[in-house]
Amino acid sequence: MSYNIPKTQIAAVVTSSDAPIEIRADHPVKAQVDLAPGECLVKLVSTGVCHTDLHARNNDWPIPAKTPLVGGHEGVGHIVAIGDNTPDSPVKIGDRVGIKWLAYSCLDCEQCRNGLEQNCPKAKLSGFNVDGTFAQYAVSYVHHVTPIPDSLESNAAASILCAGLTVYRALKYSDAKIGNWVALPGAGGGLGHLAIQYATAMGLRVLAIDTGAEKKKLCTELGAEKWIDFKETKDIVKAVQEACDGLGPHCAIVTAASGSGYSQAVDYLRSGGTLMAVGLPGDAKLEASIFFTVFKSITIKGSYVGNRQDAIEALEIAARGQAKVHYELQALSDLKGVYEAMEEGKVAGRIVLDMSK
Ligand code: NAD
Ligand code: ZN
Repeated sequence: MSYNIPKTQIAAVVTSSDAPIEIRADHPVKAQVDLAPGECLVKLVSTGVCHTDLHARNNDWPIPAKTPLVGGHEGVGHIVAIGDNTPDSPVKIGDRVGIKWLAYSCLDCEQCRNGLEQNCPKAKLSGFNVDGTFAQYAVSYVHHVTPIPDSLESNAAASILCAGLTVYRALKYSDAKIGNWVALPGAGGGLGHLAIQYATAMGLRVLAIDTGAEKKKLCTELGAEKWIDFKETKDIVKAVQEACDGLGPHCAIVTAASGSGYSQAVDYLRSGGTLMAVGLPGDAKLEASIFFTVFKSITIKGSYVGNRQDAIEALEIAARGQAKVHYELQALSDLKGVYEAMEEGKVAGRIVLDMSK
């Protein structure tokens, strides 16, 4: 199989955090001869828009994104070229693959050997320090792209590659057990609505925390047993504890993009409970009483995306229909408006960009 690869493409380019996003029609496409060994070129069909892309676009994290930047890290497409002298490629031209946040890791360092590929010192991050999927073509890496199960349609698969993978891994390492309560601040967003589904698939009972009628409806339909609107509830700690047997949840997976979703989590957790920190506000501090963290035997863990195996597992669960991305399709040219809606907290579930148009 061979593909005609154009020299230029449409891409959404961030030049600086205070300039508007530019939709360029003449962005260069890397030619096959210019691909390094191990690199592949993916023609995108679909890509989700994650709140991380908004952080990168606004440059509001303590580590800076490159500029100019093509964002995006929930991409699905077909491999159209592979660099010469790539030995032992696990994928071939024509394969449908996903591009996740972790575009590349060395696979040889201590972190990679321990399955913490995302913490590799040589990590390349799609849409952050290498160009990502908000373009018709993206360069990625044969050993890190993720094969997409045949039964999963591309638009439905895209957001599993970050949102799904991330909450799947956070739940996997949370120590929550069948029948336990899990609180999900951020439940109506991209990560949160998938966390509801992976959690219920694990036999957990879900308390969704977010705001507004639309997100309440979504969370409840997806299996949340209880709902708390954080904007309408005066005493969150009391309300959360009351909702979970009067004792609080065994676990909280925080996927809110601001510090506010974290405050009180240690206070409302049940003794012996675990706080999984997932949402990435750039400058907030986690306020936890040392006394009660110790006295209540609380565990606090950071959980950062996932490795190749987590991605495969998260996709398999989605392919079996146990986690479905609730998405609205838009076009790449709508990206600015998508960011605005996300900033205002108006996106219930995910926006996915249809790149085939
Ligand atoms: P999103 O905007 O789709 O969802 C965030 C949700 O949090 C929204 O529904 C919002 O209403 C809700 N929220 C805000 N404040 C809240 C509060 N005080 N209590 C409860 N809910 C609150 O964003 P997303 O794409 O799901 O990403 C969420 C965060 O996770 C971002 O910071 C993103 O960068 C981060 N993220 C982390 C990882 C990781 O590896 N740890 C991976 C992907 C994304
Ligand atoms: Zn993401």
